[in-house]
Amino acid sequence: MGIDNSQSRERAEEPKIYLVGGAVRDRLLGLPVVDRDWVVVGATPAELLKRGFRQLPGDFPVFAHPHTGEEYALARRERKTGSGYHGFSVETGPDVTLEEDLARRDLTINAMAEDDQGRIIDPFNGQEDLDKGLLRHVTPAWVEDPVRMLRIARFAARFDPWGFRVAHGTHGLMKKMVASGELAHLQGQRVRQEMEKALMTDRPWRFFQVLHACGGLKQLLPALAAQLPEGGHGQDAEARPWQLLRRAVAADAPLRLRLAGLLQFAVDEEHDAGKLVEWLGLDRGTAALLREWLRLRAMLETFVPADPDIWLNILNGFTHRREELEQLFSLSMPETAAELLPRMAQIREVVEQIRGDELRCQGWEGRSLGDELRRRRKEAITAVLEDAS
Ligand code: ATP
Ligand code: MG
Repeated sequence: MGIDNSQSRERAEEPKIYLVGGAVRDRLLGLPVVDRDWVVVGATPAELLKRGFRQLPGDFPVFAHPHTGEEYALARRERKTGSGYHGFSVETGPDVTLEEDLARRDLTINAMAEDDQGRIIDPFNGQEDLDKGLLRHVTPAWVEDPVRMLRIARFAARFDPWGFRVAHGTHGLMKKMVASGELAHLQGQRVRQEMEKALMTDRPWRFFQVLHACGGLKQLLPALAAQLPEGGHGQDAEARPWQLLRRAVAADAPLRLRLAGLLQFAVDEEHDAGKLVEWLGLDRGTAALLREWLRLRAMLETFVPADPDIWLNILNGFTHRREELEQLFSLSMPETAAELLPRMAQIREVVEQIRGDELRCQGWEGRSLGDELRRRRKEAITAVLEDAS
């Protein structure tokens, strides 16, 4: 194992270590490998601890390498213990084989291992599926973990430039998982994590399309699903949320803008922003951006360009987080934004010249100061608007 192995010399067989999962897949695809996961076959936790590995917190025996910090998991198998979902248990032990460990993985392209000689171990034909561009489940036990639904959608987004699609049989299992109500067990936080990863790919809409095609989006983000044609097999290419995502990718927009931009479509009369924010565990910045944008959007949708009162409210709305809100405006309503943003800058300049402290010097105070400020600002806005027309 490359560490101190003097302790285990008397064992008949040395533990074997394999590179597994995403690292093998990405290397075969010719992509840079960011994080590497390892599996250890034929060892016990005590042996790894003796060799200086540190056990990581969690449900399964996973260890950090003493020098590289990379994750080494003891091989484990899943065994069915009863009928229905969740009717299985996980076992580890020095007798668990590499093939058993690979069999519990989600997709065939993620179920390959590589030994220390660079040989690929591929019992589920992952390489063939990589060549064909297929996202295919390893075994029917795939339906037992709803996180796999999010993962397959994320891989569809990430590998869309290579033409990857969901295998027919796997699509069937996805529909089965949706029908079983299993998605209700997903934690919002987990949905957000996978969604965030997908949003940062170059084809983020694929994540949502794949979830929609099996009926899963309706359960996870019903208001978003309601805006798409049933089934989502390509007829939805011009859907507004996807148009926004395409613009966000083209503008290389940061995550927060993509997230708030997309989530505005997951809110409607029945599904309010507060519940969505709480369920997903959105950070405060993104939550505030989403809320402020929704408020502004409502104003902008009924906007009368000649009304100075509304202009003042809009200017106010764009005070905090101005840069982000303006970007979100451009991503969401590009034509309106192109027309209004330059005018808004002009009006802001004029309005900012009329200041409360100056009115105070002129003797205004309290409520009447506020009224006078607003009156003069509206007057200035009207003058700008008349000049422009
Ligand atoms: P990424 O490139 O995003 O890290 P990954 O496939 O490496 O993709 P990880 O979360 O690092 O994803 O998981 C490592 C491996 O563990 C996967 O390749 C897969 O074999 C297995 N795995 C992870 N999550 C699941 C799951 N929910 N069900 C089955 N196998 C899983
Ligand atoms: Mg990984």
